[in-house]
Amino acid sequence: MQRAYGKCLGLYFVRPYDLPVTSPRRRLVAAFILLLLEAVAFALLVTESVTGAIAAAGITCVSLWVHLVLHECGHLVMAKLLRLPIIAVRIAPFTGWRSEVWVRPTPSTTALPLRMVLFYLGGPIANLCTATVLGTATASTSTPLTRAALLGAAFVAALLGVANLIPGISPRSDGRNLLRWLFAPTASRAALQAGYYQEEVSRTLRTIAREEVGDHRLGDPVRGGNDPRLALAAFQRRWSTGHAHSAADLIADAERLAALARADSTDPMAAAAIAQVLTVQFGLWYLYAAVVNGSPVQHQEVLEISELARLAFHVQPHALSARVAMSLAHLLNQQPEHARSLLLDIRPGVDPPDLCNVAFLLRAIAECYLGNHADAATLIRVAGGDYQQLTQVVAAIQAADPVPPLFASAPRVDA
Ligand SMILES: [Zn+2]
Repeated sequence: MQRAYGKCLGLYFVRPYDLPVTSPRRRLVAAFILLLLEAVAFALLVTESVTGAIAAAGITCVSLWVHLVLHECGHLVMAKLLRLPIIAVRIAPFTGWRSEVWVRPTPSTTALPLRMVLFYLGGPIANLCTATVLGTATASTSTPLTRAALLGAAFVAALLGVANLIPGISPRSDGRNLLRWLFAPTASRAALQAGYYQEEVSRTLRTIAREEVGDHRLGDPVRGGNDPRLALAAFQRRWSTGHAHSAADLIADAERLAALARADSTDPMAAAAIAQVLTVQFGLWYLYAAVVNGSPVQHQEVLEISELARLAFHVQPHALSARVAMSLAHLLNQQPEHARSLLLDIRPGVDPPDLCNVAFLLRAIAECYLGNHADAATLIRVAGGDYQQLTQVVAAIQAADPVPPLFASAPRVDA
C-alpha cells in the first residue's frame, strides 16, 4: 500500500478546510500580557502620566479584539466579492477558538488561484487599512492620551496584519496559504480536489462502518489489547480528522490493520470489516491516482487489495459493501466483467443510498471498460450528483479514448 497511495496522501494532507481546534490558551495569555506591558510602557512615554498610560494601554488592548473581528470581516467581505462559497464563519477572539472564515471553492472555478490569494489577503488588508486610518488620525489630535491610544491601536492593527502575512507552519496561516496559491496554483487546485475526494471516500467508509457497527453480532467493544474492532474504529477516527497525522503514520496503521485482518485469531466478521474499509479506502484512491494523476496501480498493490477484498467477500458475499470492495479489486485488476457481475443487483430501497451511489458509479466504470457507454451514462445519471468527485473520475474514464489503464504493466492475477 505504499507507492501510489503515498502520492495521493501527499495531496490529501493539504485539506481545503479543517475541523476547528482550540488554540493553546497559555500562549494567548502570554502574548496578551506582553502586549499589555508594552502598551503601558509606550503610553507612559507619550503621556508621562500613570493614569493616562493605563487608560491608553487599556484602549490599545481592547482594540486587539476589534482588529481580530475586522480581520475576519476582511476575509468575509473578500469571499463575498469574489463569489467564493462561504461554508462557515466563526469570529470568537479570546475564547480559545480560532476565528476563521471557511470557504469551499469549486476546483474548476475560473481564476481560482487569484481569487484565493485575494481571499487570504482580505484579513491582513483590513488590518493594514485600519492601521493607516488610525495612524493618520493621530495627526489631527492634540491630547497626548488620545494620541497614545490611537498610536497603540494602529500599532496593534499593523502588527496583526503583518503577523498574518508571515507564512507560519500552521496550515491555516494566511501567508502560507496565499503563497501556496500564488506559487503552486496547479498543486493547490489538485490538493483541493483531492481533499473533496477524500471526503467522499470517508463518507463511503462511514456508510460501511454504520452497517457494521449497527450489527448486533459485533457486540460491545472490548477494552485494551489488540482488539481488531477497536483498532478499526481508531483507524477510521484518525482518517476522519486526518490532517494532524503524516501519510507514513497512516500507511503504517493500515499495514498493522491488514495484518490483524489476516491473523488466524481474528474473528472473521471483524476481519471482513477491516478488509472492506481498507479495500474501499485504498482502492478508491488507486482509481483516482490512475485516472486523475495518470499513475496506474502497481502489481504488488493489486495483489494486496485483492487479497483483502477476498477476505471480506468470502464472509459476506451478498452484502453490498463486500461486493463494492470486491468489484473495486476486480476493476483495478482490469477484470471489468467480474466487477460488473457483482454489481448487477443494486437495491436503492434496501441498501444505504450512499453505498448504492458508489456501486452505480463503480459499475459505470466497468461498463466503460466493456465498451457499454450508453449503460455507463445511464448509471452515472442514476447515481445522481452526490459523489461529484467520483462522478468526475467516472466521466473522465468515459470520455477517454482509449480508456486509461488502472493497473500498470505487470501480468494479470486472478482475483
Ligand atoms: Zn486571516
